[in-house]
Amino acid sequence: MLKELEKILVDSIIKYDQPLKNYSYTKTGGKSDALIIIKNVAELKKVIEFANKYSINVTILGNGSNVLISDKGIRGLTIITSGLNKIDLLEDNIVSCQVGLTLKELTDFLIEKELSGLEFACGIPGSVGGAIFMNAGAYGGEVKDVVTRVETLSLEGQYKEYSNSDMNFSYRHSIIQDTKDIITTVYFKLKPGNKKEMMARVEELNKMRSDKQPLEYPSCGSVFKRPEGYFAGKLIQDADCQGLTIGGAQVSTKHAGFMINIDNATCEDYKNLIALVQKKVFEHSGVKLEREVKIIGE
Ligand SMILES: Cc1cc2nc3c(=O)[nH]c(=O)nc-3n(C[C@H](O)[C@H](O)[C@H](O)COP(=O)(O)OP(=O)(O)OC[C@H]3O[C@@H](n4cnc5c(N)ncnc54)[C@H](O)[C@@H]3O)c2cc1C
Repeated sequence: MLKELEKILVDSIIKYDQPLKNYSYTKTGGKSDALIIIKNVAELKKVIEFANKYSINVTILGNGSNVLISDKGIRGLTIITSGLNKIDLLEDNIVSCQVGLTLKELTDFLIEKELSGLEFACGIPGSVGGAIFMNAGAYGGEVKDVVTRVETLSLEGQYKEYSNSDMNFSYRHSIIQDTKDIITTVYFKLKPGNKKEMMARVEELNKMRSDKQPLEYPSCGSVFKRPEGYFAGKLIQDADCQGLTIGGAQVSTKHAGFMINIDNATCEDYKNLIALVQKKVFEHSGVKLEREVKIIGE
């Protein structure tokens, strides 16, 4: 079976028994059975067909900045999208971008081309695919504001296309969280911008981030979604949770919405700390915090 898979992978790379903490921003997670760094969509399709034929579980990982990976790891195939990194400037200020590019790489490209609209996303440490899956946003912007079209491959191996409205974007949600398709290419519609002004804005936003967020530690960003009418960080602060520690995971004292890995935290440490914070916040304010970060694996 593995020989058959390896034959499919002409450009892509397969590695066995890899510790997934090397692929996750929290630096937690057990091993993957097989990790594939996919290099083109045609090979991705063949891998999906192979997985279907043998009923093998498939997990997609972008930049690993919004996931907690189980300590037992991930069974089956873990597909890393970082090799899907083609980007093209088309007509009418539209850019087509494969999903493995990071948002930083995309914003750097847009600054070079003087195309404005995604500066808000420059410091979000995700891939383009992860950002669309999550409808990532910051400083008043969300990726949905500039997306015109999304191409995917279904887990049945069918190519599909979604318009912006088909994507059912809402706060940290897109329809792909329900369909489980694999996003392959995204089309963004930008506006003409000015390189100097865009660079100044990016610098300003990055400074705001490093002033407020504990970027010196591994984390997965804001652990919880913003509950309507509240700020998760303020609720966590008011419930006296800052500094709470379980194992190696700690509620950041710099930004209450973040949980940082201070000392070889496990996924279990994170899960227990999340449950404790949810309990304390509910007891203090009556608000149920909903997890934003995805827990994946066995
Ligand atoms: C320090 C820090 C700051 C952050 N700041 C922000 C912020 O300001 N705003 C914000 O919105 N988020 C923020 N985040 C969270 C995170 O960066 C975003 O959610 C990002 O969009 C996740 O992208 P990723 O590639 O890392 O996704 P991953 O963590 O790799 O995956 C997240 C989910 O998306 C799925 N997925 C990934 N790629 C694909 C694909 N191609 N097709 C289908 N499914 C896919 C995965 O299966 C998984 O379920 C922050 C995180 C950190 C660590």
